[in-house]
Amino acid sequence: MTLAEKIYLPAIFTGMGITFKHAVRTVLKGAPAVYAYPEVQKPRAEIWRGQHVLKRDEEGRERCTACGLCAVACPAEAITMTAAERTKEEKHLYREEKYASVYEINMLRCIFCGMCEEACPKSAIYLTDRLVDVETNRGSFIYGKDKLVEKINERIDITERQSEKQKNAVK
Ligand code: SF4
Ligand code: SF4
Repeated sequence: MTLAEKIYLPAIFTGMGITFKHAVRTVLKGAPAVYAYPEVQKPRAEIWRGQHVLKRDEEGRERCTACGLCAVACPAEAITMTAAERTKEEKHLYREEKYASVYEINMLRCIFCGMCEEACPKSAIYLTDRLVDVETNRGSFIYGKDKLVEKINERIDITERQSEKQKNAVK
C-alpha cells in the first residue's frame, strides 16, 4: 500500500469531486434533486429490468412450456417450476403440450439480470419496467403464476424490449 493509499486523502477528494460534479450538474440542468416518491417517480431507463411477466400468445394461451431453461440459466437459483401435461380440454389454455402448473420466482433472490429472458426459447418470460411491491414478510416475495402470468385483458407490451431473435420466436 502506498503512502497516499494509507492516508486515504486522495480517495476522499476523488469522492468529493464526484459529489460536487453531480451537484453542479443538477443545479445547471434544473433537474429535481429529490423526487416525492411514490407519488412522483424518477424516469427509468428503457433497459430497466423490473418485475417479470409470463406472456400469453395472441390466442391468450400461456406460452411457457416448463422446459426449465430459465431456471438453469438463473444465477440466483430464484426460479422453480412444476411441469404438467396438457389435456385435450386445456388446449385453449396452454400453447404447448407441456406447461408449468406451478411457476415461482423468489424476488428476494432475483438480481434482475435478465438471464431467464435470454434463455427462454418460447418468448415466454420478460422483465418489465414494473417495480416489485414492498412486502412485510419474506413469503410474499415468492411470486407465483397469479402474479407473473399476464391477465388476458391486461396485456403487457414488451415489443420494445424484444431482440430480433425473440421477435421471431413469437411467430
Ligand atoms: S432476472 Fe436473473 S436472477 Fe432474476 S429470475 Fe431471471 S435469471 Fe434469475
Ligand atoms: S419461461 Fe421459457 S425458459 Fe422458462 S420454463 Fe417457460 S418456456 Fe422454458
